[in-house]
Amino acid sequence: MTDATPKLVDSHAHLDNSRFTEDLEEVILAAQTAGVRYILSIGCDLQSSITNVDLASRYEPLYAAVGFHPHDATQLDNSALEHLRQLVQRKKVVAVGEIGLDYYRNRAPHDIQQQAFRRQIQLAREVGKPVIIHDRDAHEDVLTILDEENASAVGGVLHCFSGDLAMAHKCLDMGFYLSFTGAITYPKNDEVRAMVRQLPLERILLETDCPYLAPQPYRGKRNEPAYLLHTAETLAEIKELKLADIARITSRNCFDLFGIGTCDTATTIAYQIRDSLYLNITNRCTNSCIFCAKFNDFVVKGHELKLDHEPDVEEVMTAIGDPTPYREIVFCGYGEPLLRLDLIKSVARRLKHHGCRIRINTDGQANLVHDRNILPELNGLVDAISVSLNAADATTYQNICRSRFGEQSFVAVKDFLRLAKEHIPEVTATMVTYPEIDVGACERLAEDLGVAFRIREYNEVG
Ligand code: SF4
Repeated sequence: MTDATPKLVDSHAHLDNSRFTEDLEEVILAAQTAGVRYILSIGCDLQSSITNVDLASRYEPLYAAVGFHPHDATQLDNSALEHLRQLVQRKKVVAVGEIGLDYYRNRAPHDIQQQAFRRQIQLAREVGKPVIIHDRDAHEDVLTILDEENASAVGGVLHCFSGDLAMAHKCLDMGFYLSFTGAITYPKNDEVRAMVRQLPLERILLETDCPYLAPQPYRGKRNEPAYLLHTAETLAEIKELKLADIARITSRNCFDLFGIGTCDTATTIAYQIRDSLYLNITNRCTNSCIFCAKFNDFVVKGHELKLDHEPDVEEVMTAIGDPTPYREIVFCGYGEPLLRLDLIKSVARRLKHHGCRIRINTDGQANLVHDRNILPELNGLVDAISVSLNAADATTYQNICRSRFGEQSFVAVKDFLRLAKEHIPEVTATMVTYPEIDVGACERLAEDLGVAFRIREYNEVG
């Protein structure tokens, strides 16, 4: 693995499966070469759980989960549960799974499956580890049991998620992650890809479920962790991101949920997404938008943006380093950048010496903040500005964006957009796809103002 190799995590593999007996070391090596840094190998019954715990102790990239699959629910007697209790507390055992309900194959009676599912969630809560959930044709009962057993207290993931968008939102609201396999690479799965496009990446995991469900280039063959790369590339296409972004975000998700690997929690002043470099210069804001993700946490696309102080010009320049490889430099972060107008002007002036393209993402209230028209000051320094419009009338704007300037802020945002055209070559009004916002009305308003218009998914940040 080189520095340029993505560092992915296969969050669901069955390396104890007999199809890996002959060449397990080669399979792990191939995964490492392909950029799959860690593999979580999942138990389905007592023997496979024991084997996976043993494998995790022998191979550094491997972690284990232990549990009884719904197919094997009849085996979960008191003695097996006690054995599981011992195993789950072993080193590198990070979850209880896979557990759940399978009403498709029906290899165990439903009441026995449900009882095993409940007992294993109770075990997970007892030891404080997340659950890995198998759900096949049993959506309603899975959600009911997760709720009744308060599985949200430990969290977990719905592996190989097979529900629709409504169910996905229920799971996300309960605090669960959703995991996707090579099935998202299959040509006929447009509907699944359309759903994934609408889900927040910060709650998505990638998995192979190997030896099953090989991605498209290997369909029908034995699947293995190295092939996760194809699923990750498809996710990058769906989300219009780079593979490196997908690797960073989904690996961070695995760290947050399972504690797998390591995580850089140092605050980021300059952070890359796709080919752009974003600058995080303040966490202060004139708005308090009801959809703002920073009220949950300050992680954006795998980058930690909670600042312990506001950086000065030299700190920002040091964080940028060589600015020339990037398509553009964007003042953004988790706050309103134009609160720091002087810093933006100084940094932009220096970046312009390198021929950089500069963009600002703003809430458009800078003229209220500074009590003057600041747009002439950005002349020649800023190439593009994206202004969050987010509503077509003042009342809706204030209900959603909750500006500290009250309802006058909406008029100020519209004026800002109008005036910006005189000083900045590209001006775009944006809106998030929040339920109360009328997209058509916003688009018409942007047209009236004579600026471009762009829609952002409300749970996609950065
Ligand atoms: S303007 Fe941006 S940073 Fe400020 S509260 Fe709204 S979404 Fe959050």
